[in-house]
Amino acid sequence: MSRTVHVNGAYVPEEEAKISVFDRGFLMADGVYEVTSVLEGRLCDFAGHIARLHRSLRELDMPAPVSDDALLVIHRELVARNGVEEGLVYLQVTRGAHDRDFAWPEGLTPSLVLFTQAKPLIRSAAAARGIRVVSVEDLRWRRRDIKTVQLLYPSLAKMDAKKRGVDDAWLVEDGLVTEGTSNNAWIVTKGGSIVTRQLSNDILHGITRAAVLKLAAEAQLRVEERPFTIAEAQDAAEAFSTAASSFVMPVVEIDGKRLGDGKPGPVARRLRDIYVENAMATAI
Ligand code: PLP
Repeated sequence: MSRTVHVNGAYVPEEEAKISVFDRGFLMADGVYEVTSVLEGRLCDFAGHIARLHRSLRELDMPAPVSDDALLVIHRELVARNGVEEGLVYLQVTRGAHDRDFAWPEGLTPSLVLFTQAKPLIRSAAAARGIRVVSVEDLRWRRRDIKTVQLLYPSLAKMDAKKRGVDDAWLVEDGLVTEGTSNNAWIVTKGGSIVTRQLSNDILHGITRAAVLKLAAEAQLRVEERPFTIAEAQDAAEAFSTAASSFVMPVVEIDGKRLGDGKPGPVARRLRDIYVENAMATAI
């Protein structure tokens, strides 16, 4: 079934959506994006995604294409027009179109594209069985805090994982886990501490990560923001990843080493439940 997508102010059938071949997003990966989850036809953590979008735009000296109110209207309109009950809204802003050159002229008009993806998020088979990951060297650029559309290296790492028969890769730099290909990485130590890497330019500042940190603190769970090695993760009681597209995803195997009994652990399952409950209660 054809979706309605949004391109630069117009709602059009996906087959008719057009972007210039000179768009710098296409030629230079000169663009940023956000992915917001939809539950019961409403947007989860919308304010957080918009705040991070502004941060990404600011870091790249790119103007916002439209107001935040207009972005909310477009998100809601696409969810309604496409009848999305559960799934994602993808938003992309690129610097705009100009004849190919590394330097860009002042005053380019940014391009704005949004589309929906209907997808079951709560009843996920992967979350029920837990995923398996392998470690891959983190060879991305050094500004991973900016959510750019430059996703070739994470795509290669994910393909590497798939070829090795597992679900995802955790990226490692200087012996320490940075994050997953498209998610933040967490462990639960045998002493019961929940550990995830501290914010810096080395990782994306996940919106789900922020929500889970807050909810874990409210549930009086012990949290540490620090890096960890693959060896520490393999020795942990549990592991999981977080992202808007997968919420809290239990990890049950790392580089061939099974964690615990090889099933999603109680902390990850509890945090997933708390996250979903809170997301439903606060979605707009
Ligand atoms: N880290 C990376 C590299 C990502 O690509 C993503 C999501 O796309 C995340 C973390 C999780 O961020 P969020 O929770 O905002 O989806």
